[in-house]
Amino acid sequence: MILRKAFRFRLDPTEKQQNLLTKACGCARFVWNKALILQKGRLEGKVPLIPYEDLARFLTLWRASDEYGFLDESPVHTLQWSLKFLQQAIWEGLDKTNPKKFPGFRKKGIHNSLRFPDSKQIHFDFAEKDDQGRSLLPRVFLPKIGYIKMRKSREIEGTLKNASVTKSGKHWYVSFQTEQKIPDPVCKSKTAVGIDLGVVRFATISTEETEQVIAPLDVKNLETKISWNQRKLSRKKKFSKKWKKQKLSIQKVYSKKASILKDFHHKLSSEISKNHAIAVMEDLKIANMTASAKGTLEEPGSNVNAKSGLNKAILRQGWYAFRQMVDYKLQWAGGKLILVNPRNTSKKCPECHTIDRDNRKTQAEFKCISCGHQANADLVASINILRAGLAQFACC
Ligand SMILES: [Zn+2]
Repeated sequence: MILRKAFRFRLDPTEKQQNLLTKACGCARFVWNKALILQKGRLEGKVPLIPYEDLARFLTLWRASDEYGFLDESPVHTLQWSLKFLQQAIWEGLDKTNPKKFPGFRKKGIHNSLRFPDSKQIHFDFAEKDDQGRSLLPRVFLPKIGYIKMRKSREIEGTLKNASVTKSGKHWYVSFQTEQKIPDPVCKSKTAVGIDLGVVRFATISTEETEQVIAPLDVKNLETKISWNQRKLSRKKKFSKKWKKQKLSIQKVYSKKASILKDFHHKLSSEISKNHAIAVMEDLKIANMTASAKGTLEEPGSNVNAKSGLNKAILRQGWYAFRQMVDYKLQWAGGKLILVNPRNTSKKCPECHTIDRDNRKTQAEFKCISCGHQANADLVASINILRAGLAQFACC
């Protein structure tokens, strides 16, 4: 199998290089926003979208023009990639089964990233010492930017495919995507696990023998901090020194929250893929769930409040991101993720198989109206998910 991995390091660009990178990010945003306006116009006029090849031709014209000639100072591949990413984001945004939203305009200070897609143009210089024996930092060469010092904290394995440069807070980072061919992994474990993702509890996990509840991840404190900081920000004069400082501190809390979530998802998904051969999860069309808060034709506006709270929680806990992690980590380990139809997983009695809406009295409690079986509702769901997955697996 092909193993794809990313290696991320902090960069130490000179002031001149920082300016070049900032400028290149600005150009990438400019191209994205300009193409987005064009495509939005197409969608509004109900005419087909402009294909990527034509957008790339526009880019060539823009770069040669007097008006947008500044684009020519930026590495051209990064601009082409901006267009490619946009195209993909638009398709994903229009796809109703994908939880990703339709792309918006890229803003200064928020969207600072560049993709260098051509690995032939990226070079490393890992010389430890210079001519006079002074130690040097490893460097990476990026087109039109030059050699940038890099804090190489581990070995880069595999064949380099591309590099992405991003600014996060005050610092610049580079992430190298690599590929390597490895023998197909043989899964050591033979157990299967059902995973129910929830709002109150992030995940409830059950095998045929054991059950495990993963406590919710508490990021509420950080969210309170963010909204408190945001109120403070609104009282400050826009673009003033104090405003900028406040804005930076909000960004810090945001990235802290994101890294806590990511860390949690990584740990849990690693544990699952290490200990089990099969994981079963619900095939939730998360996008549909978020869209349905306003109500459907059948149930206009039902549960609007509860659902928008639910939506918030879904977004907060990143079910989708977590599911993807479980998927690829299981693949690495020779395992498999099975997705099952979520229908009735919370209403079916695991003992007598009665399906009834009244079996689930509250969000937390399950009590079968037929046989009286009582259990935690999330646990019942995870057992049903596991069984549905195993039934599906036996069929294929
Ligand atoms: Zn029952």
